[in-house]
Amino acid sequence: MPSPEPAPVSVDEHLAHILDSITELPAYDQPLLETLGLPVVADVPSPISLPVFDNSAMDGYAVVFRDVAGATPDRPVHLPVVGEIAAGQTTIYAMSPGTAVRIMTGAPIPAGCTAVVPLEATDGGIAKVLVNEAPTEGQHIRRAGEDVKTGDVLLRAGDRIDARRAGLLASVGIGRVSTRPRPRVVIMSTGSELVEPGSTLARDQIFDANSYLLAAAAKNAGAIAYRVAASPDDPETFVEMLSDQLVRADIVVTSGGVSKGAHDVVKEALSSLGTVTFREVAMQPGKPQGFGLVGEDGTPIFTLPGNPVSSYVSFELFVVPALRKMTGRLPLSRPLVRAKLTSSVSSIPGRRQFLRGRFEPKVGGSEVTPVGGAGSHLMNGLAQSNALIVLGEDVTRAEHGTDVPVMLLDRDF
Ligand code: AMP
Ligand code: MG
Repeated sequence: MPSPEPAPVSVDEHLAHILDSITELPAYDQPLLETLGLPVVADVPSPISLPVFDNSAMDGYAVVFRDVAGATPDRPVHLPVVGEIAAGQTTIYAMSPGTAVRIMTGAPIPAGCTAVVPLEATDGGIAKVLVNEAPTEGQHIRRAGEDVKTGDVLLRAGDRIDARRAGLLASVGIGRVSTRPRPRVVIMSTGSELVEPGSTLARDQIFDANSYLLAAAAKNAGAIAYRVAASPDDPETFVEMLSDQLVRADIVVTSGGVSKGAHDVVKEALSSLGTVTFREVAMQPGKPQGFGLVGEDGTPIFTLPGNPVSSYVSFELFVVPALRKMTGRLPLSRPLVRAKLTSSVSSIPGRRQFLRGRFEPKVGGSEVTPVGGAGSHLMNGLAQSNALIVLGEDVTRAEHGTDVPVMLLDRDF
C-alpha cells in the first residue's frame, strides 16, 4: 500500500526550515562600488577629520577681518593683493594685516586670515582690491573637523551602502569596506518543451520564461545571477548540468519538474540523493516545493514549481529571504502593508493565497486592484502587478472595500 501523503506544511514552517540551513557568507574587504545595497559587517570609524584643513567656501579674497570691518559701497577699503592660493596648493601661506590674498573655493586658508570676502563684494582687482561690503568674522571659512572628527562612527554595523554613504566613505579615504559578498545564484529551468527566447518555436514548444524571470528577481534581490540554458526532462542530463554549475553557485534555483506527473525530472533526479526534501506547502500558487543541500559543499538548492507565476511567488517568499540572510540584510521577508480592495476576491480554505494586484498609494488609504486571473500560467497579469494580495489560510472571501495585507514587490526593504 502506498504511504499516505504527508500533510502540507505552512508557508512559515517551510521558510523556517529553509533559513535553518542558510548561513551568512564570510565577509571581506570589497571595493566600494561593489558594495551598493550591502550592509557593512562592523562599525566604520573615520580615519581622518573633514574638512581635512580650514579652507575657503568661496572664490574671493582672504583678509584680516578687522581691516575690512567698516567697508561699505560708499567707503570701500583698499588692500594690496599679495598672492593667490588655488585648491590643491601645497605651499604654506601666512598673511599679514593690511593685505589680501586671492583665494579659490577649497583652497587652504592662510595663517592669519579671519574672513573670506567673496568676489562679488569686491571690484575683483588683481594687484589691489576694493572691498565694498564688510564680512562677518570667520565668514566663508570651512573649519577643519566641522563635518567629521577622526574616530567618529560613520556607519554602524548593518547599515547598507548607498550612494550617499559611498560618497562619505570615499571622502574620508576609505576605498574598500567589509561586507558579505553578493550570493551567486545559478538559475536553471527544466522542461523538454522549453526553447531559448530569440530562437524559433517548433510545434508544441514554448519559450523559457522562468530563467529570465528568476534571474531578474535574483538581481533585484542584490544577487549575482547565472542563467543556464534549460535542461531537458532527462535526469542524467539534469544531474550533469547541475554538477557543472555547482562550482560557481552559492545557491541553485531550478524551476519545473517537481509535480506529481511523469517526467518530473528534478524530483526524479534529486530524490535519490536524500538531501533534498520535496513537500507540499499550503499556499497558492506554488504548492509543490523542494529544498535541500547538494554537492560536496552542501550548496542550498531550491526546486521551484514550473508554472511561471508559481515560480516567481515562490522565489519572493523563500529564495529572497535566504539571499538576504546570506548577506546579513534585515528584515528577511518583504514587510506587508495594508490596502483597500477595489473588488471582491475569493480563496480556497486551508491555503495562503497570493493574488496578483496593482497597488496604488493614496492619501487617506492606499488601494489594491486584483489583476489577471488566479491561473499560475498568466504572465500578462503578473507583469501588470506590482504587489501580492495575501489572503490567510482561513480566509475564503474578501469583499470590495475591505483592508487586506499586501506585499509590495518593487519596494526596497
Ligand atoms: P512542470 O512542473 O515542469 O510540469 O511545469 C508546469 C508548467 O509550467 C508547464 O506547463 C510548463 O510548460 C510550464 N513551465 C515550466 N518551466 C517553464 C519555463 N521555464 N518557462 C515557461 N513555462 C514553464
Ligand atoms: Mg516540466
